[in-house]
Amino acid sequence: MMKRVLILGGTGDASALAAKASTLPGVEVRVSLAGRTPQPLPIAGIVRVGGFGGVAGLTQYLRDEAIDFLIDATHPFAAQISFNAAAAAAELGMPRLMLVRPAWHLVPGDQWIDVDSMAAAADALEEQAKRVFLTIGRQQLAPFARLHEIWFLIRLINQPEPDAVVPEGLLLFSQGPFDLTAERQLLMEHEIDTIVTKNSGGSATYAKIIAARELGIKVVMVRRPTIPQGEQVQDVEEAFAWLVGQPINGQR
Ligand code: NAP
Repeated sequence: MMKRVLILGGTGDASALAAKASTLPGVEVRVSLAGRTPQPLPIAGIVRVGGFGGVAGLTQYLRDEAIDFLIDATHPFAAQISFNAAAAAAELGMPRLMLVRPAWHLVPGDQWIDVDSMAAAADALEEQAKRVFLTIGRQQLAPFARLHEIWFLIRLINQPEPDAVVPEGLLLFSQGPFDLTAERQLLMEHEIDTIVTKNSGGSATYAKIIAARELGIKVVMVRRPTIPQGEQVQDVEEAFAWLVGQPINGQR
């Protein structure tokens, strides 16, 4: 009998895993997106879009759709859905794996100011920045809007919501991966003295960290939120191996 895996997505890793898992005989791949991106890139498998309605809604979905395995491949900062997934899977006794790419770590030459929240990042800028590259997505721009002495270069994938509070500066729309030459050029062209970023990890957006190191630019690094306990792997290959190791077609 066919087994069904639900991949909680919204990341490049989730899409890569969906493509790989779709090649497995005996497995049907479902992918869930929150619906934040108006036109997401095509993804393998059967894609559904939108929130489930908390733990209860997700539990109901997993039960109604007869999902057998759950792989949480969401972004490391999307902690709410990860906790919901942990609770729903626990309730159903369903195997659950988290695909969590490793965080970036400080290397010699880096000048990082580690903070725990966007509010703390804004506080850190107040003391020492004039021209800031803000690469934190569009959902948490408001804490920076009070910093009228600072000019912001704000890189986004999509337009902020119409009612969003946006800091003063320039909006730049583009989507990674970004290469080192272009990142170096961008930082120099706009005379950036400080970058604000989430510690997302991965290679797609790491070039700005290397460029900052080379150019002696400070990085306000927002630490990752706590995520639930449970089995974790770090990359798509390992997640695929986990899926292959699950009892599929009644065999292990
Ligand atoms: P979040 O705070 O953890 O989740 C908020 C709510 O959004 C969840 O309670 C859930 O709604 C819904 N949701 C989130 N991910 C979902 C998914 N894959 N499928 C269905 N519903 C989902 O998440 P977030 O930080 O807003 O991120 C939303 C999505 O964007 C995630 O899929 C994440 O992978 C992606 N993303 C996030 C970031 C980031 O920095 N946060 C960066 C890149 C990509 P219900 O309670 O109604 O089910």
